[in-house]
Amino acid sequence: MPELPEVETIRRSLEDVQGAGITDLQINRAEVIRRQEYEPESVVGQIIREVRRRGKFLVLKLKTEKYLILHMGMSGRFYLTGEDEELTEPHIHVIIHLDNGRKIVYQDARRFGGVWFIRDCQKFFEKMGPEPLTREFNPDYMEKAFKGRKAPVKNLILDQHLVAGIGNIYADESLFAAGIRPDRMAGTLTADEIKKLCQAIKKVLRTSIEQRGTTFRDYRDGYNRKGGFQDYLKVYGKKNSPCPLCGNPLIVTRIGGRSSHFCETCQK
Ligand SMILES: [Zn+2]
Repeated sequence: MPELPEVETIRRSLEDVQGAGITDLQINRAEVIRRQEYEPESVVGQIIREVRRRGKFLVLKLKTEKYLILHMGMSGRFYLTGEDEELTEPHIHVIIHLDNGRKIVYQDARRFGGVWFIRDCQKFFEKMGPEPLTREFNPDYMEKAFKGRKAPVKNLILDQHLVAGIGNIYADESLFAAGIRPDRMAGTLTADEIKKLCQAIKKVLRTSIEQRGTTFRDYRDGYNRKGGFQDYLKVYGKKNSPCPLCGNPLIVTRIGGRSSHFCETCQK
């Protein structure tokens, strides 16, 4: 599933469309519309003022009270292509035609993602936790959020209400980098461990953004190219491979319904 670094990479590649006008909106499958607070057709003639990201969502700001919000779900792709480019892939649900000779394509075989036509962007995201790469997300904040919690620490860092944009890949990688088991009760983390985890999350996400995200199966960036962070993964998807620190085989267990990769020796 695309997580923060993948969505941020797509956002950066879509920056080119800022200032472009929408000439047509083609919706091939109505089910991908998750909510419509205004007529989808009314985006035609509007200018894309800004391309933002919040958590795992992309936000196209058209004007005040008109936002087009996009989510890739498990396997969706959003990419830019030339207006004349023929689209041969199956499962193309939405095409946003632009006046700069390009189009934004939303393709998704599994349709867990979707499109929201929203008036109040702030309200849409009001329950979402802070962005992990901002100062708002810091050890003090985490300490308060973890205090007294019996849930596994991994569940908490996956909780979008607590922190935005982290999914299974970056949770496992950050916990490994911090030397903390994913099933540790969150409330038992020491101040030092929380600080390490906070730093690890920021570092792992920044490095992945530099590498334009992780392509495990489906993810492609805004130009339909693969990411590069899969070559930097230390534990995710590496069951039975030697731990890069101690050489013991990495294990995988299910925590909160998600497969979790870690080293029993290096992570406490
Ligand atoms: Zn190890």
